[in-house]
Amino acid sequence: MSTRTRLAHWFGLIRTRLTLWIITILAVGLLVFIGTTLIIARQLLNNFGEKRLQQSVSSLSVALAQEPGLSPTLVQSQLNAFSSSEIFLQYQDRQGKPIASSTNLGRKVFPLAPLRPAIAAGRFASLTIDRTPFLLYGQAIVVKGQVQGYIIAASASAGDSESWIFTLMYSGVCVMLTLVAVLVWLLVRRTLRPLEQLAESASHIAQTRDHALRVQMQGRPDEINSLARTINGMLHALEEAYQHVQQVNDLQRRFLADASHELRTPLTIMLSSLELMKKEEGRDPEFQTNALENISTEAERMARLTTRLLLLARTDARAPFAPQPLLIVDIISEAYRQGCPSHRKIAMQCQGLETLEDAVVSGNADYLKQVFLILLENACKYTPDGGQVTIIGERKERELVVTVADTGIGIAQDDVPRLFERFYRAPNASIQPGMGLGLSIALSIVEQHNGTIKVESTLGQGSRFTISLPLLNE
Ligand code: ADP
Repeated sequence: MSTRTRLAHWFGLIRTRLTLWIITILAVGLLVFIGTTLIIARQLLNNFGEKRLQQSVSSLSVALAQEPGLSPTLVQSQLNAFSSSEIFLQYQDRQGKPIASSTNLGRKVFPLAPLRPAIAAGRFASLTIDRTPFLLYGQAIVVKGQVQGYIIAASASAGDSESWIFTLMYSGVCVMLTLVAVLVWLLVRRTLRPLEQLAESASHIAQTRDHALRVQMQGRPDEINSLARTINGMLHALEEAYQHVQQVNDLQRRFLADASHELRTPLTIMLSSLELMKKEEGRDPEFQTNALENISTEAERMARLTTRLLLLARTDARAPFAPQPLLIVDIISEAYRQGCPSHRKIAMQCQGLETLEDAVVSGNADYLKQVFLILLENACKYTPDGGQVTIIGERKERELVVTVADTGIGIAQDDVPRLFERFYRAPNASIQPGMGLGLSIALSIVEQHNGTIKVESTLGQGSRFTISLPLLNE
């Protein structure tokens, strides 16, 4: 990573930005506060110093004007009396020659010439004498209308100590801000650590593609914890969706394998029959007829299989159909007519269908007819000649119930749970041709019509398939 990229990354971090923001706001606030305080303090100190200078000069002028002609020694003692460690006093004659000075001034001489305009105007003046800045105030001593001399008072200007205080304070502020920045940085880093851990475990999940993993949560009920909970919820939903897709994929794979196997069997029979016919070259007409019958039977089986596969694909896709109000007896009657081949010696009966005379269901007539056809075809197929198939109609409060009962081979209890699986056939069913698709199609259609399908059977005695469908307008 280049230095530039590293810097951009560093400035992009929340903790860096947060620290910079806090420090900027703190620095601006502190600087404004300190600056304002210092300006006000300087103003107050200046006013106070000026007042003291003025007072010393006025008191001395009054004293000297009352007793003109005092000896320099006496004047000096007066000056000493009014001076202090910060106030220096000097008495000068009209030409600016010092007559007496307060002892703390030593041999320094205040230059009168540059002070004259300030003295005349009663103003303060700032002068640097021997590289020391002074604030000066002077006043003329007038006796009987004549100027006798000048009293000049001075105090060391605050400028120097002020700038020192400023430097000290600003350096203090800089040190404090640096310390605060480090503390804020550490604190923000500590606060954001769980967020980093969250990102780490999320990226671990993404890398391992282990959908069962979850991000870790801490005990505290804070915002990060609630984010972790939301992410875990999302992961759970994703895991479920993934598992569902896997299941659908498995189902499709199995369906494809089964379907191709089922289609392959009749095709192989047809091809081998054709091969044999070619070899025979029409020498044996009986063989020819048998082979053609074989081919035709297998072709019919393939046609039935493809029709059922198509139906299954359509019901699987849950292709929406516009539901129509349907008279269920009409659909049952049509299926009844086609359900059992005429050559079979089976007694067909109907019971209680009159109770369904005006029963209306909402659905698709072709689909529902397929359901009854499948049940009737199975009942006839798995019932030996001389047996009986009965269709029983019953009307309940909010639903109608149709049962197709037979006295056929029946189904072993172990096989019952698997009957609705695609291509499943009970071992005792092998005496009859079949593909094991009918019941799974029937179940899919009945479920699409919000109904249920139930099986009761006793091996060797017969079976009952019962369908319940919700009635319309009731
Ligand atoms: P197929 O009849 O083509 O084998 P189905 O899906 O219609 O396929 O039926 C699945 C299996 O259920 C049958 O193979 C058979 O074992 C069993 N079965 C269905 N109906 C009956 C019935 N009326 N009597 C006995 N067994 C039945």
